[in-house]
Amino acid sequence: MNRLSILGATGSIGQSALDIVRMYPDRFQVKAMTAAYNIQCLAKQIDEFKPEIVAVIDKKQAFELSRLLTGTLRPEILFGEEGYIEAASYKNSDMVLLAMVGAAGLKPALAAIASQKKIALANKETLVMAGDIIMAKALEKGVSILPVDSEHSAIFQCLQGNREKDVKKLYLTASGGPFRKKSFQEFQHISLEDALHHPTWNMGKKISIDSATLMNKGLEIIEAHHLFNVSHKDIEVVIHPESIVHSMVGFKDGSVMAQMGRPDMKGAISYALSNPERLDLKMDFPDFTGLHFLTFEKPDTEKFPSLLFAFEACKEKGTLPAVLNAANEIAVNAFLEKRIGFMDIFRLISKTMESHTRIDNPSLFSIIEADSWAREKAQSLI
Ligand code: MG
Repeated sequence: MNRLSILGATGSIGQSALDIVRMYPDRFQVKAMTAAYNIQCLAKQIDEFKPEIVAVIDKKQAFELSRLLTGTLRPEILFGEEGYIEAASYKNSDMVLLAMVGAAGLKPALAAIASQKKIALANKETLVMAGDIIMAKALEKGVSILPVDSEHSAIFQCLQGNREKDVKKLYLTASGGPFRKKSFQEFQHISLEDALHHPTWNMGKKISIDSATLMNKGLEIIEAHHLFNVSHKDIEVVIHPESIVHSMVGFKDGSVMAQMGRPDMKGAISYALSNPERLDLKMDFPDFTGLHFLTFEKPDTEKFPSLLFAFEACKEKGTLPAVLNAANEIAVNAFLEKRIGFMDIFRLISKTMESHTRIDNPSLFSIIEADSWAREKAQSLI
């Protein structure tokens, strides 16, 4: 039995993970759950999955949740950062699915590592901010970090049975988002509604905007660099609009392995949760003959400078990736609140990165400070 803490239970990844738990009740048990805002959904999930502890964002939400619960078995309700940390290191869990959005994942990730839980990582921002620290601590504690991000799961799957030293290159595929074919001029008129509509993947709001700006791919470059110990020079982003090839690994003998499947996050989630086994998810294979073509293009970095920002942050390292991530979170929020336009997201990130004085080999404290600094800086630029 795999006993789980699911952080970010009400989000897109959390809900898909619970679908898998529902399919395999003899394999998985949910011991701890957390959510931020969607308390009604969390209350329903608690009634169904009966976790022992749950955590929400604040006291008000905790009170609201307690009011909504109808079952007789009531979990302990915690709140705030300590609540999330408690859920991530809960004594009765073996594995933690980190599926919350943004920088909020960092401290729970560290808590999960400190208490030697296996980690299924969907929260890429954690590795972007503090990849060196996270990977070093995981190594020290003997904790495995299994990627849930579809591209990184694909790479992880391609690496099975191969030696790290034989890897020459990682190809991260990207759908290109909804604006791949729009001209630079048309970018001025992109609305929030357009940006939230992704052509192939069904995701939460933040990641949908990140996909539209290609910043999601930018963050994934840094995530891949840390997870697989590959230099930014050996990571290439390839636009692949059909989203069938989830990513590829090039080996030194010229062989390239690709992992394919329909664009459904359940594959990557279950591979992390049940690793090294594969679960029967009753999924269809891609309809290859119906598709006729799989296409690959070079990304347009003039239209999508986010990839350049990410390559720069990955190269410069230090506190710069945390600054990139924080500025992006502020910019995406402002765009979601219709306070800035689509193109302003790029401007805001670039200006914040430019004004930052980078610290090399930062401590966790310096990273958190850089994160706060970047949030304030980006806010002031709005
Ligand atoms: Mg991804």
